[in-house]
Amino acid sequence: MLVYKFGGASVKDSDGIRNLGSIVSGCAELLCVVVSAMGKTTNALEFVVDEVLDNRLTNALDKLEELVISCHRLAISELNLPAETLDSEFEALRTAVTEADRSRGDGYDKIYDGIVSYGEILSSSLVCAYLDSIGVDAEWIDMRRMLVTDSNYREANVVLRESERRLRTGIDGRHRVYILQGFIGANSEGHATTLGREGSDYSAALVGNMLNADSVTIWKDVKGILNADPRVFHDATLIKELTYYDAVELAYGGAQVIHPKTIRPLENKSIPLYVRPYEQPSFSGSKICAESTAGIDIPVIIVRHNVVLISIGTLDFSFVMEGGMQGIFAILERYRLKVSMIECSAVRVSVVVDNNRNLNDAIEALRANYRVSYNDGLTLLTIRQTNDETERRIGAFRDTLMVQRTRKTVKILFK
Ligand code: ASP
Ligand code: MG
Repeated sequence: MLVYKFGGASVKDSDGIRNLGSIVSGCAELLCVVVSAMGKTTNALEFVVDEVLDNRLTNALDKLEELVISCHRLAISELNLPAETLDSEFEALRTAVTEADRSRGDGYDKIYDGIVSYGEILSSSLVCAYLDSIGVDAEWIDMRRMLVTDSNYREANVVLRESERRLRTGIDGRHRVYILQGFIGANSEGHATTLGREGSDYSAALVGNMLNADSVTIWKDVKGILNADPRVFHDATLIKELTYYDAVELAYGGAQVIHPKTIRPLENKSIPLYVRPYEQPSFSGSKICAESTAGIDIPVIIVRHNVVLISIGTLDFSFVMEGGMQGIFAILERYRLKVSMIECSAVRVSVVVDNNRNLNDAIEALRANYRVSYNDGLTLLTIRQTNDETERRIGAFRDTLMVQRTRKTVKILFK
């Protein structure tokens, strides 16, 4: 059994869905296809959530038509599917938005998941309808009934055993292709949850793990895993094979190509992960596995934008290492600020974190016990397997705030 994952860019329009159809038809094996929401649908649904919570229901419903429903309708017509395809899903989504207006007391995260999860419901239903229309034996699976999570809305944690049990019953082998949603699940009360932005890769890896897949393939808009962002570095080179370890470090460092949580479920069962270009399906792309014969022998450049440097000092000049760290990290974790660099001195620790909507609350919480200052809008550049030539080519940075160097890696934080 194979798992194929198609991200939002690969199913952004009818051409994308046709291309998916040809890739899926070209595979003779039992296949689980995990799809993300079409194009920018998730962002559009986030906007709808904000409108509802700001008490603008009419505008929210208008935006829903304009930004979400209309592009799905366009794809339905371009794929020559019956006009009423997705009508019941559209109706369920409108109802979810209207109901959210009445239950605003539930709070942002829960309402977010109830609405934003529809992005994947719509795209997967559309993909399934299309595959059906071209004669593929495809069965739609509702991941809200398969992936059981806790109620940590917007970054839910999957209950592995129960999810595995359900998924093994759901994927019964009676069809050749199963269409699943990435990114979503539901808690034990059946309320939809999401696994964190860009979480569909992670879903695909979990499905691969639970069903003991032979491999997982992520079909992307790039040739595979490159040593730098090809939009910035024109001579970016493909890394043909890499280890789980290298892959998780690259992903965590901010290489946009796969979600950092993807690697663990695959590593745990030694399931190979392929990253391949959907525009060139015959190309082999990159393979991630336990041991790579080649190893990465070229410098890898990772750029992480919009990070924040927070400096946290003790109020009474006590040593930060004596009892301070635990409290600081508990706050960062509570507000889901992911740390990518740490530096510490006697009475102060500096952390570099991704910006998110909780930043101000986190700063407030830290200020209760520490002296805190911060700089936002920064960029963190990481070069792994660094060498003099690469550093010379990248050149000097004007406003460098922090540099950290180990034997093979350099991290530069600048404005
Ligand atoms: N649709 C979700 C997002 O845009 C999940 C994903 O694409 O992986 O974040
Ligand atoms: Mg996506």
